[in-house]
Amino acid sequence: STQSSLSDIEPSELQIRETPQPKKIPSLDTLKFGHTFTDHMLTVPWTQSAGWGTPEIIPYGPLSLDPSSTVLHYAQCLFEGMKAYRDVNGRVTLFRPELNMARMNRSAQRIALPTFNGEAFLELIKQLIRLDKEWIPQEKGHSLYIRPVLIGTQNTIGISPPDSALLYVICSPVGPYYPDGFKPVALHGTTEFVRATPGGTGAYKIGANYAPGVYPQKQAAQLGYVQNLWLYGPEHYLTEVGTMNLFVVFKRDDGSLELVTPPLDGMILPGVTRDSVLSLARSHASGELRLPGLTSNLVVSERSVTMKDVREAAQAGRLVEMFGTGTAAIISPVDKIGYEGQDVTIPVEADGMGPVSRAVWTELVGRQTGAIPSDWSVVV
Ligand code: PMP
Repeated sequence: STQSSLSDIEPSELQIRETPQPKKIPSLDTLKFGHTFTDHMLTVPWTQSAGWGTPEIIPYGPLSLDPSSTVLHYAQCLFEGMKAYRDVNGRVTLFRPELNMARMNRSAQRIALPTFNGEAFLELIKQLIRLDKEWIPQEKGHSLYIRPVLIGTQNTIGISPPDSALLYVICSPVGPYYPDGFKPVALHGTTEFVRATPGGTGAYKIGANYAPGVYPQKQAAQLGYVQNLWLYGPEHYLTEVGTMNLFVVFKRDDGSLELVTPPLDGMILPGVTRDSVLSLARSHASGELRLPGLTSNLVVSERSVTMKDVREAAQAGRLVEMFGTGTAAIISPVDKIGYEGQDVTIPVEADGMGPVSRAVWTELVGRQTGAIPSDWSVVV
C-alpha cells in the first residue's frame, strides 16, 4: 500500500477511558431508529506524516472540529452500516463484517481518504461492542446498529487529499424495522433525478451520495410514495430503491423463477445483503441448499432490467415479486410502482412477502440470529 512506511491501525495500542456517568438504557418501545447512542465511541486519528495514531474508546460526545475542516464543505466523508446481534446462544455476533471493512476501504480510496487494515479496525470495533454490549437489546428482531465513519479534517479552503483524517465508530440500539410484520412499500419510478451515473460514485458509500437523495424522497412522499425507485437512462433501467438494492422475480415458461438484480456496473452499491441474497439463491439453484419453504427451481441473474420489462411482465402475469435489500430492513417488499402517470401493481401475498423473499428472509435471519449456524456469523 501507499502508506507502507507509516503506522497502520494498531489494536494493541488501544486506550480506553470509560464514562463516569453511564446513561440509563432506554426502554425498547421508545426506540426510534438511529436516535439513541450508547455510552462510548471509538476514535482513530490519522495524519499524513505519521499514519494511523492511537485508537481510543472514550465517552460518547461531540467532536471538536475546526470550521475550515474539509469534511464540512467538500463532503470528505464516508461511512458504513452493520449490526451486532445477540444470537440465540447469548453470544454477540456481527454479520459478514469483513465485507463492510473492504467496502469502507474502497470508499476511502475513491475519495482519497486514507485506507487501513480492515482486520485491525474490526478488532477495535469488537472491543467497543464488548464494552457497550448491555445496550444490545435481548428481544427478537433487535440489534445494535454500528456506524463507522471516516472524515477528512484538514483545516483549509483548498481541496486536495486531506493531511489529517478521523476514523470513528458510534453505536445505536435499534428495534425491528417492521415491528408489526412486513409492510410492502409503494415506489415512485424516478426519472427526474438520478442517484448514480456510469463513472460516478454510486458504488461507494460516501456521504456525498446521500444528501442529494433527500429532496427526491420528499417529492416522492408528496406524490404518495414511500421511496424512490431510481431509474437510469432513456431505457429507464431499474438501479436501486431508496438506499437499498433491488431484486425482481419473474416467472419463466418452464415454471421456474428467475431472481434478478442489476449488475455491479458502477451505479450500484455492492450491498452485503445483496451479496448474501445472491449467494443463498445460487446455493438453492445449484441444489446445495434448500431455502426454507421454497419449492420452485430458481435461476439467478445479475442483469439489467428496464421498466418496460417490469410493466410487460406485470401485464402478462409473469411478475412474481419485487423487494429491496439492506442492513436496516433486511428485506423490504414492494407492492406498487408509480411510473409515467400510472401505477404498476406488484403481487404480494397475505404476509406482505413473496415466495423468494420469504424463503431468503427466513434463511438470512436464521443465520443472523445464530438459529442457523453459518460462518457468516462472526462472534464478537
Ligand atoms: N444501496 C445503498 C445506496 C445503500 O446505502 C445501502 C445501505 N448500505 C444498500 C444499498 C444496502 O447495502 P447493505 O446490504 O450492505 O446494507
